[in-house]
Amino acid sequence: MSIDLAFDRSHIWHPYTSMQNPLPVYPVVAAEGCELVLENGQRLIDGTASWWSAVHGYNHPALNAAVTEQLDKMAHVMFGGITHQPAVALCKQLLSMVPQNLTKVFLADSGSIAVEVAIKMALQYWLASATPQKQKLISLRKGYHGDTFAAMAVCDPVDGMHDMFAALLPQHYFLPAPQSRFDGNFLHSDITPLEQMLAEKHHEIAALILEPIVQGYGGMRFYHPEYLRHARALCDKYQVLLIADEIATGFGRSGKLFACEHAAIQPDIMCVGKALSGGYITLAATLCTDEVARGISLSQAGGLMHGPTFMANPLACAVASASLALIAKGDWQAQVAAIEAQLQQELAACRYSPLVKDVRVLGAIGVLEMHNKVDVAALQQQFVELGVWIRPFNNLIYVMPPFIIRPDQLSQLTAAMRKVSGV
Ligand code: PMP
Repeated sequence: MSIDLAFDRSHIWHPYTSMQNPLPVYPVVAAEGCELVLENGQRLIDGTASWWSAVHGYNHPALNAAVTEQLDKMAHVMFGGITHQPAVALCKQLLSMVPQNLTKVFLADSGSIAVEVAIKMALQYWLASATPQKQKLISLRKGYHGDTFAAMAVCDPVDGMHDMFAALLPQHYFLPAPQSRFDGNFLHSDITPLEQMLAEKHHEIAALILEPIVQGYGGMRFYHPEYLRHARALCDKYQVLLIADEIATGFGRSGKLFACEHAAIQPDIMCVGKALSGGYITLAATLCTDEVARGISLSQAGGLMHGPTFMANPLACAVASASLALIAKGDWQAQVAAIEAQLQQELAACRYSPLVKDVRVLGAIGVLEMHNKVDVAALQQQFVELGVWIRPFNNLIYVMPPFIIRPDQLSQLTAAMRKVSGV
């Protein structure tokens, strides 16, 4: 039976669209390796890894086996008053990979919720301290941290997609986005606003939240590691927690296992998601230090006040363990380095297109920043005709393919990007 597109169009919301005049959707019936299979049989090379998550590709035998083996035992059980092997095994594996100072794990059900939990941890930590007035956050312009309310309140307040809710959101402080490029010189002027704000307002600041190195949906920008090093030092100086949102960057995407490693820093709280479960089932995690956890337990509530129904879903934990086991094998390092080199080489020509403002590559992320906003529906159709799945937004055409992509498949993606840039 074919997929009822008319029903879909009339009744089902898709991300960031209107129900009156929705953007077209493409019916996918299967996905395998780095290919999506459309209902009409056409196969598309996937340039998105399903929004950064499917790093091992689709329909992976080890990940499939992890889900089906767990399914035979138990699909789900509540986490209140109960524990289970998939959660324990996953958290052991996760803690062996993250920065060493992070020792406690909260399993959340999506990236946005992991950010909510991180913010709650920071606020609860200070509430129980001698300085309970530390309840504001600092965030960066061009930052993006999710779509729920606490997360929206730390997304870019103007350029983000949430500005219409501004009046309803808790008010935090925003600093200019770092201007020093990852591959350029560090401009000390980048860090001055943070220095000044902390000197002035540290007594009311609970935490600085940022996406380390890669600002994703706020502009696909790659900034200089020196910014992070300074930010860490300033947070220490002024007793402010550092929250690293590694939801997009975690598990190898930027060329390091975690983007914080580019600056050799450790955050106090870290969010991971997306690639955590290999793109199979929604799962995220918020990690914190012993010190943060100790502070929270001193708070009036005595514990962290969060506990979703599907917390630590065993199917999600089992597939995440399998995904992390694949990451731990280490093949991603050579794969991401090869993708980076190929993207550099094959996208370089786009610099000469009058339509293209900037070309940037970091790890397994390749970005064309166009001068103008793109027509998403038209471009998407053109990409499908070219046999690739690339999902642009605003003025950005970008790829972050599965790490297992073959060079000939990646070439198809870059050829399509060159073609739409007119080079
Ligand atoms: N933080 C960052 C950096 C992200 O890229 C995203 C996802 N786009 C989120 C948070 C929110 O994650 P989710 O979509 O799983 O809620």
